[in-house]
Amino acid sequence: MTTTSKEKRYCASCQHDTQHVVVVARKASPFRNEKHRSLKEFFTGLINGWAAGPLLAEIDDHERHVICEQCGTKIVQG
Ligand SMILES: [Zn+2]
Repeated sequence: MTTTSKEKRYCASCQHDTQHVVVVARKASPFRNEKHRSLKEFFTGLINGWAAGPLLAEIDDHERHVICEQCGTKIVQG
């Protein structure tokens, strides 16, 4: 599952605020190769969330790829 959005933020390469594409993607998942994995992942995430706390689960399961639209510099967070 991948979601994209855009946000304006500082780019170290351009050295000013530019428009960035933000891609939030799940990290490697044990259900990656299964076709109908969404529901399973949802429940797994839910259980992990209960066990570890919502914030920790969020950090653990996702990483943010922030790509500058001007120069293409990619920053991976998480
Ligand atoms: Zn840039």
